[in-house]
Amino acid sequence: DNARPILEVRNLQVAYGGIQAVKGIDLHLCEGELVSLIGANGAGKTTTLNTLAGVVPHGGGEILHRGEEIGRLPSHLRLRRGLALVPEGRGIFTRLTVEENLLTGAYTRRDPEGVAADIEKVFALLPRVKERLHQTAGTLSGGEQQMVAIGRALLSRPQVLLLDEPSMGLAPLVVEKIFEVIHAITRDGMAVLLVEQNANLALEVSERAYVMDGGRITLTGTGRQLLSDPKVRSAYLGEE
Ligand code: ATP
Repeated sequence: DNARPILEVRNLQVAYGGIQAVKGIDLHLCEGELVSLIGANGAGKTTTLNTLAGVVPHGGGEILHRGEEIGRLPSHLRLRRGLALVPEGRGIFTRLTVEENLLTGAYTRRDPEGVAADIEKVFALLPRVKERLHQTAGTLSGGEQQMVAIGRALLSRPQVLLLDEPSMGLAPLVVEKIFEVIHAITRDGMAVLLVEQNANLALEVSERAYVMDGGRITLTGTGRQLLSDPKVRSAYLGEE
């Protein structure tokens, strides 16, 4: 039953000291769904992803994974339960090789055969990563580093991939390639929650999306509905 949410967020609140960055949001994600979170700088998108991954603690509300509350678990236990984050800026270890970077994604796993099989899957999905395997990650192009970051997250064998601005700083053709990879990932049943500054692109590829503004979700709908919504067009798609 893939209509049942794999991840559900209820009334999530997050504050940094006195600054309320997320002010009680609700969202959900089903198996195999590609859902995006769009909105202006400072809307609270990155904070939301980091809170789901357990990198930032929440100040109220619930995070349910397959109906079970996980909102107080440390990040490594959420990773083991299938929530993997590809952070803003990619979080690559620049002095390690590509291979070493990939293996950090599997550090919570106890099944070396499974990890070896998943490495082969990552190579099939991201051939460039295989070509660069023994190179120091800091010498790769931005697009290649993004692929390593995605490959590393896939090595935790996630059910939910939390992707923060994968297109940032990349040329259009490279962005296109990254989005093809994201699409291929969801075909395997994985759910992806995508934070994107490039609202147009995000809405084109997403089944559903949430618009965030000032720590709140102000609009939600299918990618197509939001693409044709006049409020979205003027505020986020750069139209007059
Ligand atoms: P961006 O696209 O720029 O990352 P965003 O929508 O992801 O924007 P957040 O980065 O989540 O927004 O920021 C939400 C709010 O929280 C902003 O007002 C920001 O200044 C504040 N904020 C974010 N990180 C911190 C932090 N570590 N300490 C204090 N305030 C923070």
